[in-house]
Amino acid sequence: MAGDDSQSGVRAATEDDPRTEDELLDRAREYAAAVDLDVDLDSVSWGVSRRAKRRAGAAVYHRAEESVTIRLTWAAYRSFGWDEFTDVIRHELVHAWEFLEHGESGHGERFRAKADAVGASRHCPSFSVPRLQLLCTETGCDWTVDRFKASKTVTKPEEHRCGACGSRYVVEHVDTGERWRTSRGYEGARERIGEEW
Ligand SMILES: [Zn+2]
Ligand SMILES: [Zn+2]
Repeated sequence: MAGDDSQSGVRAATEDDPRTEDELLDRAREYAAAVDLDVDLDSVSWGVSRRAKRRAGAAVYHRAEESVTIRLTWAAYRSFGWDEFTDVIRHELVHAWEFLEHGESGHGERFRAKADAVGASRHCPSFSVPRLQLLCTETGCDWTVDRFKASKTVTKPEEHRCGACGSRYVVEHVDTGERWRTSRGYEGARERIGEEW
């Protein structure tokens, strides 16, 4: 079972969650075939986006070929975990179904009725990449928390502890990979990061 760490809100990956883009695509295809939706999967191709920043998935319509490409956002998958990510697959599949059946797709009444029928969200699922992450330094402790602002846990990490085991943690600026564990370290990193903060 995927554990949901209630203290940090971070979902732990289970052993058999996809670990690579290819695994994610294989699993998505397999999952799509089991969704109770009359969509012609031969007309659906799959891809992974490494660049999308907010959209967890997208359906790209090819009018001339009457086909659809479903793009899954890798960072969203990493952030949601497989179980929650299946909602993205269901949502994009409903777009594929609507486009292939009706030649267009949006989030109208027809879409919503079908989305409800397969238990998909009615809105395009979105996600956000955290600016900062706190990571426990203790071997074997996988506690991690997302931070979007420079709160005290970010600027003065020496005054706080891991929420799971009480050890020290390190702060990482996700975009640049800069790390620090003290307020002096923070100041230096902040200078090096500069405008990329
Ligand atoms: Zn949508
Ligand atoms: Zn810990």
